[in-house]
Amino acid sequence: MKKKRAAAKEVYTLADLKDWRDVDPPVRLGVFGDPVEHSLSPQMQNAAFKHCKLDMQYARFHILPDELREAIDLIRKLEFVGINLTIPHKIAAIDLLDSVEENVKQIGAANVIRIDDGKVRGFNTDGRGFARAVREEFSVDLRDLRVMILGAGGAARAIALQCGKENCERLVIANRAFEKGRLLVDSLQNFFAGPKVLGPVPRLQAIRWDEAAFRFQIANVDLIVNATPVGLKRGDPSPIPSRLLAPHLMIYDTIYSAERTPLILAAIEAGARAAKGLSMLLHQGALAFEIWFQREAPLEVMRKAIS
Ligand code: NAP
Repeated sequence: MKKKRAAAKEVYTLADLKDWRDVDPPVRLGVFGDPVEHSLSPQMQNAAFKHCKLDMQYARFHILPDELREAIDLIRKLEFVGINLTIPHKIAAIDLLDSVEENVKQIGAANVIRIDDGKVRGFNTDGRGFARAVREEFSVDLRDLRVMILGAGGAARAIALQCGKENCERLVIANRAFEKGRLLVDSLQNFFAGPKVLGPVPRLQAIRWDEAAFRFQIANVDLIVNATPVGLKRGDPSPIPSRLLAPHLMIYDTIYSAERTPLILAAIEAGARAAKGLSMLLHQGALAFEIWFQREAPLEVMRKAIS
């Protein structure tokens, strides 16, 4: 048996997984990403484990894209409970898993892995986490909203599917690469076939990433969601300028950096209500906890750990 180290490392790598030296309490969960240093999941999940007296801990793993297959194989052999996947692994992992839940197939991305008797299973909690975050931030359900999503990547697809499942009033996808947004819209047609009367605008629509298209849509939506990384880097502009925004809007920026993002600042300037992605991070994490441990997550403990 290998000797236990006293403390967990800040960031583990594939080399650590290959020559695994456990700590006390043992690392049995974590997040795979590249980069991964910024992840808030360890502090959130470790607070939950401590509160629930689960004798294990959650760590960061810097795993490169070409290391993912081996890393998943190693955590299976090391009998981990599960893993979160973040950029850039959410899509690539799907082909490396033994099975995935239905919404992973529909979204094309997994953010949670659970290991059951040596079998690796994939889940996606981003969409459900987003719906809970919107309810909490704005006291409204998706089904009552006309939503415009900026982006058509992993997060946008999870959010769009959730909007479809919850039968939102209207859904508009604006993506820089228009064709990708159109394909996402095509995949959601079945959810929007029902008769909701909205006047002259279609219930489901892909639009171009340009000011004229934004200007027209803003009069016909209630909630705008930024599911792009625009706003993450210092000096980034707001994906939608404040002069186009209006006080009736709710703005949800999935970016959860400590500072207010340019979109949040633009929303405040326009007199709109705005929320950042911390609440989505919290709820997707709480849902992941429930997948791993089949018990209710200590939501307030987790919230406090990341606020
Ligand atoms: P992704 O799969 O790489 O997708 C990125 C999307 O952003 C694509 O639609 C891309 O458009 C668009 N984009 C990238 N750069 C752009 C630019 N300069 N201008 C306009 N559009 C641009 O990434 P993801 O995993 O969906 O993540 C997107 C964001 O969601 C990230 O900021 C992440 O932090 C956030 N997120 C937050 C949570 C949470 O819990 N709060 C969870 C998941 C993700 P093209 O198709 O044209 O390239």
